[in-house]
Amino acid sequence: MAALPPMRQVIEAAGLRASKALGQNFLLDLNLLDSIVRAMPIQPGDAVYEVGPGPGGLTRALLKAGARVTAVERDARALPILGDLAAVAPLTVIEGDALKQQPAALFPGGAHIAANLPYNIGTALLVGWLSEAQWLPWWRSATLMFQREVAERIVALPGSAAYGRLAVLAGWRSRARIVTTLPPAAFVPPPKVSSAVVQLLPKDPADGVAPGDLARVTAAAFGQRRKMLRAAMKSLPGGVEAIEAAGLDGTRRAETLDIAEFVTLTKAWQKG
Ligand code: SAM
Repeated sequence: MAALPPMRQVIEAAGLRASKALGQNFLLDLNLLDSIVRAMPIQPGDAVYEVGPGPGGLTRALLKAGARVTAVERDARALPILGDLAAVAPLTVIEGDALKQQPAALFPGGAHIAANLPYNIGTALLVGWLSEAQWLPWWRSATLMFQREVAERIVALPGSAAYGRLAVLAGWRSRARIVTTLPPAAFVPPPKVSSAVVQLLPKDPADGVAPGDLARVTAAAFGQRRKMLRAAMKSLPGGVEAIEAAGLDGTRRAETLDIAEFVTLTKAWQKG
């Protein structure tokens, strides 16, 4: 790839003032961006689906690593910058809302996901990617920036305060880990909170549980965290009976159940 003008210069030339409404905090440190890409399991020639490329710092690092990138960005102001990049490297840019895309159809051979997104959008997308009907899914890995507290909720273990619906879903269908944490000063402008990069690698649970059913059971169980399972599961028809059928102690609290126990509980509820 030919030498590109510095990130700050292209941002200034495009008049891309970071928008709070779009959750824009840019990563401009090329060494840091390279290190995030090095943590991704990508080979030269691999397809990457990048969500929210903004001015394209992470995009540049991905292209430098030899990836073929398809990026979806909703801020039209970033498109000229991304267009310049697409003229010199294997980058396809889609203008639009990532929440409305159907990426599976774009990647018949699979793709890696990379994103630095506002955390509410990132969480909604991640839940969708983990809930795909077809499993193993189209995505081969997902390397995602989150607010640190959200990242901790994704990788949390049973018994911890951060353990909840997100950790059960992520742990059920993937191996999830925090790759690195970043202070606010790593971004321009700096956000108020620390961030962390989470990486998820899909795994095949092969246990016959539908993601929608697991979601309903965990929503009920964690809906009232402080209550015993027996009380919390009353909000789900057949929930209380399922606890007994699963051979679980109804006086336990949801956060003490590990993922295998949630799977057992969901299966019992499906049968009931
Ligand atoms: N990836 C760039 C970086 O690391 O410097 C930009 C990160 S900035 C935190 C988030 C980016 O996501 C912005 O460019 C914003 O416009 C974009 N974005 C926000 N919501 C989006 C959505 N629903 N669909 C696509 N892009 C979105």
